[in-house]
Amino acid sequence: MDRILILDSTLREGAQAPNVRFSPEQELQIASGLDRLGVDFIEYSPIVSEKSGRVAQELLAAGLRSEVILHGRATIPDIDLLLKHDPKWIAIYLSTSSVHLEHKLHMNREEALVQTQRMVEYAKRHGVKMRFTCEDASRTDADELLQFARVAAEAGADRISITDTVGVMTPSSMHALVRHVRSALPSVGLDLHCHNDLGLALANSLAGIEAGADCIHASINGAGERAGIPRMAEVVMALQVLYRQRPELKATELPHLSRLFSKISSLPSDPFSPVVGENVFRHKGGTHLGAVLRTDGKAYEAFSPQSLGIKRRVVVGEYSGKNVVRYLSDRLGLKLSDGQVAKALARLKEKEGDMFEFEV
Ligand code: ZN
Repeated sequence: MDRILILDSTLREGAQAPNVRFSPEQELQIASGLDRLGVDFIEYSPIVSEKSGRVAQELLAAGLRSEVILHGRATIPDIDLLLKHDPKWIAIYLSTSSVHLEHKLHMNREEALVQTQRMVEYAKRHGVKMRFTCEDASRTDADELLQFARVAAEAGADRISITDTVGVMTPSSMHALVRHVRSALPSVGLDLHCHNDLGLALANSLAGIEAGADCIHASINGAGERAGIPRMAEVVMALQVLYRQRPELKATELPHLSRLFSKISSLPSDPFSPVVGENVFRHKGGTHLGAVLRTDGKAYEAFSPQSLGIKRRVVVGEYSGKNVVRYLSDRLGLKLSDGQVAKALARLKEKEGDMFEFEV
């Protein structure tokens, strides 16, 4: 598998989520956190307002290692607006599905193909690197999608984005679609932009890279339209843990980025959220916990809390077993007999619920 790239769209897709609003300072703060993490692209739309134009300028001048990719529609006015900021990368999008062409763009497929070719050629004439996004690709007939991708690639697009705009793909249908495009266009970069309406955005993205795509779109805490897109934390850890990819990405930035986003957006994070959820390294059940303590987590953890720069926690209460009482008493330097451990455990079980927790 090629090196898999990560594009963060928190400041573009994430900003489209209800109740999310960033100040320019917060946008720069998020971008610098993403840069420390090591994402390859930070997507931004300078088209939204005058303020966003100024922020785009600052992002481009900030000396980030991540490429800032400016995002707009596949129209001359939008492309001109993007080019005005003198970016290295731009991304333009056009719908390719019948439902979007008919009801949103009021164009037929021939007209959309001509628009694709003209807009890509127009952008490339200005010397930028560019991505062409096929919006609603997953509801586009596979051969018709390939036609759009081929026209864009032949017109000079460096990357093509295959989108599951409404989140209706399965891993196997995504694999087949990406394979169809990849086998016809072996050298163009292929992005995956998967929505999470049925909770399959990460699974579909991984199926897409297994079929030959090489860039996954994500956002902090998965923020985006409706159910959002894959969470940055799960994408980074899936690449590192499951595919042994991108070990240089600083996963220790992930908890911080998640908290920063929650704080800025006032959207609380879900305790069950993969990787960075509050519960991910909290162990409670008696037999689980005994095995966790004996194996330094391996028995019940897919990856260590140390890989994220955080600590494991043990929840003590009615679900505890004698292992945790023994562990805790040893840590406190108490030399308890088996009888005393049993007694302490009986006291714990008299109370209902969780009593306290501690870091290990
Ligand atoms: Zn999207």
